[in-house]
Amino acid sequence: MAEIREIITEEDPLLHQDAAEVHRFNSSLHTLLDDMKATMYQANGVGLAAPQVGISKRVIVVDDGENGFIEMVNPVITHREGAAEATEYCLSVPDRGGRVIRATKIKVEAQDRFGNPFSVRASGLLARIFQHEIDHLDGKLFTDVMIAEVRD
Ligand code: ZN
Repeated sequence: MAEIREIITEEDPLLHQDAAEVHRFNSSLHTLLDDMKATMYQANGVGLAAPQVGISKRVIVVDDGENGFIEMVNPVITHREGAAEATEYCLSVPDRGGRVIRATKIKVEAQDRFGNPFSVRASGLLARIFQHEIDHLDGKLFTDVMIAEVRD
C-alpha cells in the first residue's frame, strides 16, 4: 500500500540541485511513484516532483483534474511554443505564489515505470504543470523564475 511521504520546503538544499536520471526501473521506483501519487492527492496538489519528497531523481506525477493521472520518469521538454503569464503555487513553498511566464504548448518525452518511452503533447494548465514539475528536476522553484511575487 502506498505511503504518504513528507513534502520538504524551499529552505532544503535538495530542492535546489539537479536530480539524477533514473536507470533502474525496479520495485523501489514503483514504490516511489505510488507514494508520490498518494502524497500528491493527499495534499490536493496538481503535480509533484520526487525532489519534493526528498528523493533527488527525475520523476514526476501530474493530475490537472481533466486529463487524468500521468506519471513520468526522465521527462524532457522537446518542444515549446507560445507564452502566457499566470499565478503558480507550490507544495514546497507554503503561503506564497508568483507570476510565471510559461510556454502555452509543449511536447514532453519521457519513460513509463518500466522504461518504455512515450510522449505527451500538452497545452494550457497541463503544459504549465509539466513545466513547473520538470523545473523541480533542475533544482528550480517558481520563486527562481517568477516575474512578481503574489501574497494572499
Ligand atoms: Zn512545485
